[in-house]
Amino acid sequence: MKVIKPGSTIGILGGGQLGRMISIAGRNMGYRFITLDPTPDSPCGQAADRQIIASFSELNAAKELANSSDVITYEFENVDSDVASILETTSFVPQGSELLKITQNRIREKSTLQSNDVPVAPFMVIQSEKDIHRAVDRFGFPCVMKTATGGYDGKGQWVIREKDQIPIAVEALKHSGVEMIMEQFISFSKELSVIVARNLAGQAKTFPVAENIHINNILHQSIVPARITEEQRKQAEIVALKVAESLKAVGLIAIEMFLTNDGAILVNELAPRPHNSGHYSMDACVTSQFEQHIRAICGLPLGDTTLLSPIIMVNILGQHLGKVLDKLDRLPTTAKLHLYGKKESKENRKMGHINFLGSSFEQVFQQIEELKIWD
Ligand code: ATP
Ligand code: MG
Repeated sequence: MKVIKPGSTIGILGGGQLGRMISIAGRNMGYRFITLDPTPDSPCGQAADRQIIASFSELNAAKELANSSDVITYEFENVDSDVASILETTSFVPQGSELLKITQNRIREKSTLQSNDVPVAPFMVIQSEKDIHRAVDRFGFPCVMKTATGGYDGKGQWVIREKDQIPIAVEALKHSGVEMIMEQFISFSKELSVIVARNLAGQAKTFPVAENIHINNILHQSIVPARITEEQRKQAEIVALKVAESLKAVGLIAIEMFLTNDGAILVNELAPRPHNSGHYSMDACVTSQFEQHIRAICGLPLGDTTLLSPIIMVNILGQHLGKVLDKLDRLPTTAKLHLYGKKESKENRKMGHINFLGSSFEQVFQQIEELKIWD
């Protein structure tokens, strides 16, 4: 297995908060960083040694990143396939571009999972108005239509709750002109996620199962350890490892799942990178997801992922930032604040998160409530 030793330079495609936190973890280990992002002084650019300011589709900029780096990683999925292949031919890209291609498209992602016997929410490919009617007939109400590519934080999704809402979906399909999928709406008891790290030698390790609460389709809290049975926890880990193995993932892969009301686990979505629901690991695990990602792509042994304390991670969106800054003196001394250095604060934009450590969830929930930041 190729080993990229500390002192080497890691190139990160994308300058957002995930790249920033990879850089901060890697700097502690002695790595150097260079990032490529169109926005000057990006969250990652602030923490890296250097930022190339260019659009992600600029091939010369991608070449420059590759030539300046000993290993390349990416912090978002929508990497242009031409860029990915340039990077692969001129630099070491242990994650490869295959998994990226799969996870860029919900149809490919779900079909690949299905062909590997991983349970997913029932879905149909939508290319025409007729397909919408067929899917509604099959799944009933509610069902949810999603764009095959480019969605995040619930963007590009239409929930159809009744007959009257079908024309909205038809209009959305016509207007966007892109392929969609329709999914059965899953009545879940919990949303869970498991992050798996896997290296080039095939060694794999899971992080503790997180229980995720979404508000308006945006992650609000991750509660760890998830409040599920031992059997459900094992099942979630088995499914996650199966996904990582069957897709031959290298680096991190986050697996979002539904725990259905009947106790079954269905995979919702994959992300071949560090994930928001793994930010708790920065303060609560022996090894954080960011350090683990570096270990995995650099060929170092994977670190221990033992959970050291119960923890609740709460996201800080644009609308919460002002209150957080006003209440810094009221944060519990066991709360760890992480801000991403974004210049512009916007409604629903992820600006940071707080990791609340504590001895019991009751205590931590009470602390969060008393702050009155998120209500
Ligand atoms: P992310 O920010 O995680 O990338 P996304 O926009 O790509 O989100 P999903 O993860 O597919 O989209 O959906 C966002 C949320 O919407 C889910 O976490 C879940 O709460 C809800 N949701 C999505 N699909 C379904 C479904 N089939 N049944 C029930 N709820 C769903
Ligand atoms: Mg999701």
